[in-house]
Amino acid sequence: MKAAFINKHGSLDQLLIGDLDIPKIKPNEVLVQAKFGALNHIDVFLIRGWPGLKLTMPHVLGSDGSGIIKEVGSAVTTVSEGESVTINPGLSCGKCKFCLSGNQNFCKSFSIMGEHRWGTYCEYFKVPEENALKLPSNISYELAAAAPLTFLTAWRLLTTQANLRPGENILIHGAGGGVSTAAIQIAKYIGAKVITTTSDQDKMKKAEELGADHVINYKTSPDYGKTIFSEITKKQGIDVIVDSVGKLTISNSLRLLKPGGRLVIPGATTGSIAEVDIRQIFWKQIKIFGSTMSNQGEFREVMKLVFEEKLKPIVDRKFQLEEIIEAENYLNEGKQFGKVLIEIS
Ligand SMILES: [Zn+2]
Repeated sequence: MKAAFINKHGSLDQLLIGDLDIPKIKPNEVLVQAKFGALNHIDVFLIRGWPGLKLTMPHVLGSDGSGIIKEVGSAVTTVSEGESVTINPGLSCGKCKFCLSGNQNFCKSFSIMGEHRWGTYCEYFKVPEENALKLPSNISYELAAAAPLTFLTAWRLLTTQANLRPGENILIHGAGGGVSTAAIQIAKYIGAKVITTTSDQDKMKKAEELGADHVINYKTSPDYGKTIFSEITKKQGIDVIVDSVGKLTISNSLRLLKPGGRLVIPGATTGSIAEVDIRQIFWKQIKIFGSTMSNQGEFREVMKLVFEEKLKPIVDRKFQLEEIIEAENYLNEGKQFGKVLIEIS
């Protein structure tokens, strides 16, 4: 089968297109003929590699995907051959105390599709039965590939972790990323007032179209913290801040929060080591939440809203499988607003 894979770690040039054997499924797995994959930042981290990461080469990337079930294992009972599916990219053992209590993303062997097992950038990929979710007829393969990873991440961090309530205000740093575009939509769905930041006019317009109430250009207004605090919140501060930027924004985030405000951290794209004024945390009794991926219940909750078209993934651009390096470069340069897709077949 045609696949995008690496034979060794390094720069994006290590991504190759070639022929690999179709994966063999286990009794509890299904084989999916891929239609679309969607890019995520983990791709680049995986290509570079990190200390302790040991992959069997060749390794196929890709965490999000959609397609048609071509083969089911002998023990599979909940999905059938010929059905259209999307996948939950979060994989866990299914047997430990965390998995059995519905906290699959706390599982010791929790991993992401394409991380420790072959991913979706190939003509046929396999997933455990419980990770395949049947598509209703109104949802295209494109939206089905675009939604899962970013929507499940945004859903967990806003609902389970931050417990965002109607009428609260929320600041989402960096409007263009996949998780941010999902978070803006979910926050509006909950009934919150959304403030977001971005770096160019085009993205500002798109964030407004998505429902953001206030969009600030942090490049042309370097003092954006003051604008948000004084003008937008009338010196009241923010209830919930989603900060995946890290080093560059964390101090501002702590300053902008209301007393009792909540800070949710799903990543740290500008650096994970930062100096903060700890007094901000105890004086204002700030609550800080980390968040990674989701459990199976949260995945199904948010996908139900996507299937009902109450939440709609934003597709920025589509590339062919052969153009994968160009696509990864595009994502890496932060040019996108929403998801970047890979058309496979
Ligand atoms: Zn487990």
